[in-house]
Amino acid sequence: MKFTCWLLALCCVCPVANAQLGEKQHLFKLGLPTANTAIFSRDPSKFYMYTYRSFEGVSSHPWTAGRYGFVRNQRRTDHGIIFTKFHEGIDIRPILRDKNNQPLDEVRSLTDGVVAYANKVSGRSNYGNYVVVRHDWGDGPFYSLYAHLRSVAVSSGDRVKGGSVLGQLGYTGAGINRERSHVHLEFAMMLSERFETWYKKYFRSPNHHNIHSGLNFSGMDIAGLFHSHKGNPQLTLPEFIRMAGAYYKVAVPAKHLQSLPISKRYPWLERGREPGKFPPAWEITLSSSGLPMEVRPYSKKITRNTLTWVKDSPVSHSYNTLSRLSGIGSKAKLTNSGLLYIQLLSDTF
Ligand SMILES: [Zn+2]
Repeated sequence: MKFTCWLLALCCVCPVANAQLGEKQHLFKLGLPTANTAIFSRDPSKFYMYTYRSFEGVSSHPWTAGRYGFVRNQRRTDHGIIFTKFHEGIDIRPILRDKNNQPLDEVRSLTDGVVAYANKVSGRSNYGNYVVVRHDWGDGPFYSLYAHLRSVAVSSGDRVKGGSVLGQLGYTGAGINRERSHVHLEFAMMLSERFETWYKKYFRSPNHHNIHSGLNFSGMDIAGLFHSHKGNPQLTLPEFIRMAGAYYKVAVPAKHLQSLPISKRYPWLERGREPGKFPPAWEITLSSSGLPMEVRPYSKKITRNTLTWVKDSPVSHSYNTLSRLSGIGSKAKLTNSGLLYIQLLSDTF
């Protein structure tokens, strides 16, 4: 199959000065993972794979549930219908099928990188067979994840180019059948390099995926990134992530650490620190889905991870934050799962 559309934007990877922030600006390149390019068309329903929905007695097949974000599990509230289940990536439908309705699309790397992980035992993950590719343009490691593959063509450690075949689109994993075959695509930051220690502490089931478990990734709005980058090839990933919108802030004691490990991995996260000064705590800004957006010095001494700010919301914060916060309005607190998430993110476990 001829494949010509993976490269959306050509740009150099050389850093140029960003006068506003005084930080180096690392540009990146990104293409689509299959021959389906309808994300940029007038009819995105040809791009996204639908889900089966039943709400208040009405069944439907909404393609909108294949988008990134809070797009699933409808719930009627006093403030209208909201969606409470977060979809951390996008579901891209196949464009080629054989006579048995088997999808034939190849799945390709979005851009240059190294295969960080390839799960070839589909029953070991809700993602089924999946591949994780690591990319680094100078702003820390970013990971593209390709799930529900029918077959995997690469192994951990393989160097890949943008457009290199990673496997075949399929329907392995949980909650998916042949009709709904798709590739679930995520583009993510890694939460902790000590994920396995954290996991062992709190979960009994075995972790088969080392640090490349879905639990250790926080996915950004990949469709938004495709669109924003197409409109502005000078966009950097830190700039895009800061556009996500803050939902809550959590302060964590600095203890003996001069910087949080996540700030060492993603240096652009840390802002506002005075040279030579070591604050008693760090305040992390998160989006509603838990994407870390910024880490700043926090001047108060604290002894435990503490919620310091939340965006006002007329509906329960639980619906907006994957149940990591509870409460409503300007009142909120971290739930148990929220506390575990912050521990992982800040390496305070
Ligand atoms: Zn999905």
